[in-house]
Amino acid sequence: TSKQDGRNRITFFSEEMGALARARDLVEIELKRAIQNREFILHFQPRLCLRTNRVVSAEALVRWQHPKRGLIMPAEFIAICEETGMIEDLGQLILEMACQTSMAWHKSGKDIELSINISPRQFADKRLLDALRDFSSHPDFPTGKIELEITENVLIGDHDFIAQKLDAIASMGYRIAIDDFGTGYSNLSYISRFQLNCLKIDQSFVSQLPKSGPIISLILTLAEQIGATIVAEGVETKEQLAWLRNHQCDQAQGYFVSHPVEEKDLFGVIEDLNTGGVYQLHPAGGSD
Ligand code: C2E
Ligand code: MG
Ligand code: MG
Ligand code: MG
Repeated sequence: TSKQDGRNRITFFSEEMGALARARDLVEIELKRAIQNREFILHFQPRLCLRTNRVVSAEALVRWQHPKRGLIMPAEFIAICEETGMIEDLGQLILEMACQTSMAWHKSGKDIELSINISPRQFADKRLLDALRDFSSHPDFPTGKIELEITENVLIGDHDFIAQKLDAIASMGYRIAIDDFGTGYSNLSYISRFQLNCLKIDQSFVSQLPKSGPIISLILTLAEQIGATIVAEGVETKEQLAWLRNHQCDQAQGYFVSHPVEEKDLFGVIEDLNTGGVYQLHPAGGSD
């Protein structure tokens, strides 16, 4: 009968939910251990300047190198870390890895900027400013080449407090980018309130080109008005790249330029992009 079906369904759902909750608890326990054991590595995705056709920057993207499961992508663990507060330790670890990498590049004469994702909870963490200050005071540290990517949700809340924090970060010489621009907080008053160096147009707009042309044009104008660099995220096709170049977008990041790569492969990829150009990597009729 339908009554029995209903009961079965309820049992099924609650068992499933119980299993999900247990799986989540397990991930949580595993993550705690993983942070202690530093089981994380960074991959790097180049950002191409559309005026010079050279790679000017790269974004650090974290991966969990699980001893049994192999490489795990951030979609599977960043949100759990954010909800539980573990992101404070993980974020600190990522920041250290990224800053040390940037310092090593700088010392070996590799002139490239590095952007680092900072989660809302990490932005609120008191330790962030101390860590940034420690790094920037190191004589070999290229502070001006480090950009911190924050999302619009970071800017919700006490604007005075946020402005103070952003000012402190800027006064040390770091750059600030708004990640996934256009998808979060819709009150744009923060744009004139804070000093922002870069806006990253979310890939959901880029993937809708040319239909999303009007909104991207608007963001490009806005960025120019406030003197911010504009980066298009998630560029996957040569048509998208051409549209962005024709509309004076500053930089492109996405699979069409390069997937995120291991550090050991990064400078080879950059060399190929700088010498052959992006179209040589995707010859006529090549895959997008
Ligand atoms: P995000 O910061 O917006 O990073 C861009 C994401 O888009 C990356 O996924 C990148 O691999 C992917 N992507 C790049 N180009 C393309 C493309 O052409 N097409 C498509 N479909 N995707 C593209 P990833 O590495 O899986 O990271 C996902 C998100 O996880 C990041 O989004 C960021 O929000 C978060 N995340 C990654 N690394 C870190 C980190 O170190 N700290 C924090 N707090 N969050 C991180
Ligand atoms: Mg990012
Ligand atoms: Mg992004
Ligand atoms: Mg994104």
